[in-house]
Amino acid sequence: MHSYQSQLQGELAEIMASGTYKEEKIISSRQGAEIEIDGKKLLNFCGNNYLGLAGSESLAQEACRAIDQAGYGMASVRFICGTQTIHKKLEERVARFFSFDDAILYSSCFDANAGLFETLLQAGDAVFSDELNHASIIDGIRLCKAERFRYPHSNMDELEQQLRQASGARRKMIATDGVFSMDGDTARLRAICDLAEKYGAWVMVDDSHGSGVLGANGRGIIEACGVAGRVDILTSTFGKALGGACGGFTAARAEIVEYLRQRSRPYLFSNSLPPVVAAVSLHVLAHFDTLYTAARKSLQEHTAYFRERIASFGYTLSGDGSHPITPVMTFDEKAAVEMSQALYEKGIYVRGFTYPVVPKGRARIRVQISAAHTREHLDRALEAFYEIKNLRP
Ligand SMILES: *Cc1c(COP(=O)(O)O)cnc(C)c1O
Repeated sequence: MHSYQSQLQGELAEIMASGTYKEEKIISSRQGAEIEIDGKKLLNFCGNNYLGLAGSESLAQEACRAIDQAGYGMASVRFICGTQTIHKKLEERVARFFSFDDAILYSSCFDANAGLFETLLQAGDAVFSDELNHASIIDGIRLCKAERFRYPHSNMDELEQQLRQASGARRKMIATDGVFSMDGDTARLRAICDLAEKYGAWVMVDDSHGSGVLGANGRGIIEACGVAGRVDILTSTFGKALGGACGGFTAARAEIVEYLRQRSRPYLFSNSLPPVVAAVSLHVLAHFDTLYTAARKSLQEHTAYFRERIASFGYTLSGDGSHPITPVMTFDEKAAVEMSQALYEKGIYVRGFTYPVVPKGRARIRVQISAAHTREHLDRALEAFYEIKNLRP
C-alpha cells in the first residue's frame, strides 16, 4: 500500500468519527413526497423541493418538449457559441420577476457566488459577511482580495461597528443569506439596507431558500422585507423551489451584470446552462403567478399546521415559521441521531444535524415541508414524532 493511502484512510477515519460524515442514501424513485430507498417506501421530509416541482410530471413533460426543440447541450461557454434564445429569454424573465435591470445565468448558485466577489471587489475594498452564510458565499469571499469582516449572526450592532471600522474602503459590500438554512430564520434585511445606506455599502443577498417561497408573491426575502430597490445584488438558485434541478443566477443593475459577463470566471469558463434547464426554469417563472399559487398556499398551510401540531406534543422548534424549514430541536447530539434513525424505521426520512454543523448543544432534526406533501403525509410524520417522543433525553 502507498503511504498516501494509509494517510488518507486515517484522515477518512477521523471524518467518520467527527459527526460530519455524510452517508448518501440511494433513491430509486423520482424525487417527491414519497420516495423509495433500498426497496423501502418513505415520506421525504428533507428536500428543498418546496413547491413540489422537482419530480413533478408537469415539469418532466415540459423538459421533454424543451429537449426536443433545443437539444441536449451546447458544448460551449456562453460567449463562444453557448448562448441560445432561451438563455436570453430566461435572463430577461429573471430580471423582470425579481425587479432588477438585468440578470446573468450560472450553472449553479454556488458558481454565481464563486464568481461574484472576486469580480467586483479588489484590494482596498471591504466585505461584511454573516457568520452563518452559506459555504458558497464563504468560498466566493475567500477568492477576493477585499478586507473581510465576519459579523455574528444577524447582529446589526456588530455589523455597524465593522462598517465604521472600514470607513476608508473604496467599495463596501454586505453579504447575507436571505434564509439561513439550519434555523429557517430570515435575514434582517430592512436593518441591513438601512445600515448600507448610512455607510454607503452595497447589499448582496443570496436568497436560494427564499426565492419562490417567501413574500406575498413568492419573490423572496426582498419582497417579504419590503426592500425592493434597496438591494444591489441578488443571487439565487433554480435548484430549490423554482424547479429543483440546477442552475443559478445573479440579478442586479445593468452595469453590474454587464461587468460580470465580461469578468466573472465561472460564467466565462464553464459551459452554459443546459437548454432544457433554462427552458423549464423559464416555464416556472413565466407561469409562477398562475400555476403555482395553490402550491404556495398549501406550503404555508402545511407549515403552520405541522408547527402547531408538533409543538403541541412538547417539541421545541427553531425559527419563526415564516419558512417551511422546521427545525425540531433535540439539543442533545445523540438524541438527534437516534431520533432520525427511529423516524426512518417508521418510514419518515429526515436528517439530524449535530455539532459541528450546528453549535454544540443545538442538535436538531430538520424537517422541510413541501407542497408535494398531503395532509395525510403530514399526519403520518406527526404520528411518528409523537411515538418517538420518549427517545428524547
Ligand atoms: C442551496 C444553496 C446554494 C447552492 O445552490 P446551487 O444552485 O445548488 O449551487 C447557495 N446558497 C445558498 C444560500 C443555498 O441555500
